[in-house]
Amino acid sequence: METWGYIAIAGLAAGLIHLTLFLILLFRRGKEAQEKAALAYLGFSLVWVAAVAFANLEAIFLPVVTETGRALTPALALTLSVGYLTCIALFLEYPFWPLLATAGYTWAAVLLAATLFFQVLSPQAIPLEQVAGFSWAALTLAAVGLLGYGLFTSRLAFHRNRALYWLLTASATTAGQALTLLPLGPLQLVGPLIHLAGAIALARGVLTFWLPNVKGALRAILRFLFLFLTTAALLLGAVLSLEQLTSLLALPSETVVVLLALGLALVYLPLYQFLVRLVDRLLTGIGFDPAQVLRDYSQTISTMMDLEQLARTVVQTVAQILEIQRGALLIANETERGGLTLRPVPALGEIPIEPIEVEPISPLLVRLKEEDRPLFQYEVEMHPVLRAAPQREREGLRALGMEIYLPIRAEGGLAGLLALGPQKTGEPYSPRIVEFLMTLAHQTGVALQNARLVAGLQELNEQMRRLNEDLRSAYERLERLDRAKTDFLNIASHELRTPLTQIRGYTDILNELAHTGTLTQDQIARITENLSRPVRRLERIINAMMDASLLETGMSFRFAPTTLAGVMRMAIEPWQEALKERRITLTTRGLEDIPPIRADMDRLIQAFSNLISNAIKFTPDGGRITIEARPLDEEYFEVTVSDTGIGISPIDRELIFEKFYRVGNIDLHSSGDYKFKGGGPGLGLPIARGVIEGHGGCIWVESPGYDEERCPGSTFHVVLPYHAYRGPCRWKRPEERGNDTGQQSG
Ligand code: ADP
Repeated sequence: METWGYIAIAGLAAGLIHLTLFLILLFRRGKEAQEKAALAYLGFSLVWVAAVAFANLEAIFLPVVTETGRALTPALALTLSVGYLTCIALFLEYPFWPLLATAGYTWAAVLLAATLFFQVLSPQAIPLEQVAGFSWAALTLAAVGLLGYGLFTSRLAFHRNRALYWLLTASATTAGQALTLLPLGPLQLVGPLIHLAGAIALARGVLTFWLPNVKGALRAILRFLFLFLTTAALLLGAVLSLEQLTSLLALPSETVVVLLALGLALVYLPLYQFLVRLVDRLLTGIGFDPAQVLRDYSQTISTMMDLEQLARTVVQTVAQILEIQRGALLIANETERGGLTLRPVPALGEIPIEPIEVEPISPLLVRLKEEDRPLFQYEVEMHPVLRAAPQREREGLRALGMEIYLPIRAEGGLAGLLALGPQKTGEPYSPRIVEFLMTLAHQTGVALQNARLVAGLQELNEQMRRLNEDLRSAYERLERLDRAKTDFLNIASHELRTPLTQIRGYTDILNELAHTGTLTQDQIARITENLSRPVRRLERIINAMMDASLLETGMSFRFAPTTLAGVMRMAIEPWQEALKERRITLTTRGLEDIPPIRADMDRLIQAFSNLISNAIKFTPDGGRITIEARPLDEEYFEVTVSDTGIGISPIDRELIFEKFYRVGNIDLHSSGDYKFKGGGPGLGLPIARGVIEGHGGCIWVESPGYDEERCPGSTFHVVLPYHAYRGPCRWKRPEERGNDTGQQSG
């Protein structure tokens, strides 16, 4: 048979195997996108193999078939490079693959159609073959570039191994395609044969999850070549030198052969062992004694009670043996719903500490809890079963930047995971190392359990302490409120009795004068004038009490358009005389800058009037009161009422907003409506708060403290919405923004 005959048979075999691969993929159930892309690739490969065969087997086919085959080969090679590029984009999870596939296949289809068309009409009119050839070269380069990029950007060894695998596959397929594009005559049929190697590797890569360790395989080949070549060189050297020796000493050839055999047998074995050790040392790095390391390790951790320290020790033990730059312990805790939280305790490298929640139905949970074998990040991202785990879990693990997780078990359950980052060498963890790490993880179980118990106890202790503190402050608060209630009885009787006594006195006088018949017009005027003051006072106290009683059941409001400036004018007006008498200056600022508001005007006047009356009462003669308004955002504005008065101590700042609570000596009571330190029934601030909160606002006080000598002053803050509404205040005080649990009102 002629040469081309052999090549033709080889080409036919290549075509048949391509077909088999195509069929295997075709009949697989539940194909994923990448399997479909690989199927398309193998389909095009078949057509391409056929075209190459047509082009080269002139002896079998008609000239028109041969010509068409030849013309179509470049465009078909182009479809292959598009197919391969799509596969790679999918393997590397680049989201733009559909665009790439559509554009590439369209371009290839146009070229194919044009080639066929011109083949019939006028051959060679346009250099379509060159265009297809160039497109093929460009796309092939792009595919190799993508793979190279994937290879250099992935941190994790298994991912890099995957990219390397595809790169080798690509070399075979590309070389196969390139051969058919060169003017080699029947030798072009070798192309599909070489392509076949790549196609088989491609099908394998699609069908199986764990790929062979490419670097390891390459290293094994290198090791073999090195040993083979050095041994050959040694043997050759020995034979040659013995030959020289024979000619010099003139020995019979039988003796020489026996001497050679004996000499080589003596030297070869130790030499070979030495070579093997040398190569292993050069290629696989240093060795260590696992038993010694484990003994030292278990001794170190046997008394360890601190989680952080334990994490550092275990990761450092690993770091002594392997070059790693990241490592942590992930502490596992069962959640109430039956899931798992993994809380990272960093030991080496910058590691995020957000706990990872694993759902009860997650395949990750089953894998971690039920299987006592290491989990690789590669599996989390690539394994068909684990890929079904919730996105959040996979991203949480990915953010840790680890390569391997080794389960640590205690009392049968999962206590945690030893998480280790990729090795600096870029190699995947070898089975020998993984076995050692599993033993290390097993040994950590008891120590981890102890450290967790201690950490739990400490946490419990801290909780108890906080609870105690809360209890104490709650008790203090209750005590103060209780005192306020008792005080109230005294205050109320005092507040009510004083005006009543005055009224009784004047009515007695009136009665007496009426009986003696000496009542003049002037006297009547004076007595009614004197009567009306205690009556007004009584009225005010009773009104305040009624308002206060509404605080529990809820005040009713009538919201209507108004202005802050108008409200303030009416709130200040009644106090003008008092301000004058006590020589207190009251200044207002920014009231006009607040746009019109919607509120219950009467209630707001009442609330601000209470604040102003307090400011007057607790500021010494000649002091200052400042009322200032400023917009906060689109929804809220703030009004502050500050004075230069005696101030309020931190413990009272909250309590003064409680009903009947008042600071200081109750004996000073009823020293007047606006006298310095004159008390009231302790209802002004609770009512003010009821009004402000009823508008969807909030109120609180700031003061450096209580000091009658230095008068540090107080500032009452009122935040109100421009449009009053029924509901809690949505505005947050700056110090509350950090913790959402704080109370709104003072
Ligand atoms: P009262 O009717 O006693 O004024 P409030 O509820 O208005 O009751 O105030 C309660 C207590 O808060 C007052 O007794 C006083 O001790 C304190 N207080 C209120 N405003 C001020 C202020 N501007 N400066 C100092 N202390 C104040």
